[in-house]
Amino acid sequence: MTQTEVGYVELIEAARHPEHVVTLAFAGLIALAPQRPSPYDVPIAALDDAALAAIRERYFPDLQCPLKAYAGASPPQSIDEFEDLLAMLLEHRSVADQEGTWLAHAVATACMGANHLWQDMGLPNRAALSMLIKHHFTSLAERNSGDMKWKKFFYRQLCEREGLLMCNSPSCGNCSDYLQCFGPEDATSFFVRDGGPYLA
Ligand code: SF4
Repeated sequence: MTQTEVGYVELIEAARHPEHVVTLAFAGLIALAPQRPSPYDVPIAALDDAALAAIRERYFPDLQCPLKAYAGASPPQSIDEFEDLLAMLLEHRSVADQEGTWLAHAVATACMGANHLWQDMGLPNRAALSMLIKHHFTSLAERNSGDMKWKKFFYRQLCEREGLLMCNSPSCGNCSDYLQCFGPEDATSFFVRDGGPYLA
């Protein structure tokens, strides 16, 4: 068992509601921090120590160790498209509360990973991610009428907001990249081996 898996097990054992997909998402994000590229190799990017302490208290009350935002003295600079993704997710929160804000940060952070988004959130399968997005970012989910891969869909949304056309074809049905955008996302979860049921 790797150090990362130990972290996940500790989080789930310390969880208030381990059957909730939000809890699974936060646990996955925190445990997978070492696998993300810098500066996203932190529990949840752009959340400070106070926010992480609040997440720990609310979702993982029995966790023995604190969750720290950054090992260094000052936060790293955000790069890439993280800020744009975060802004879009914040805008589409179903409820503009703390949980929605934390989840927006978690999803944007996971988008910086190299795998399917559901894997980089440490979730059991794509269905769990879809349930989370439909429940907590409903207006955004409603736009994904073709059930596009979530990470692809987010990036396409960003391009459309900027008026950019990144696609090779005017329509998805005739596009040679169709499978990259809509193909199956079957893979193995980093942590969770069963299929639920989970609660939104
Ligand atoms: S399938 Fe092709 S046209 Fe559709 S979003 Fe993907 S790249 Fe763009």
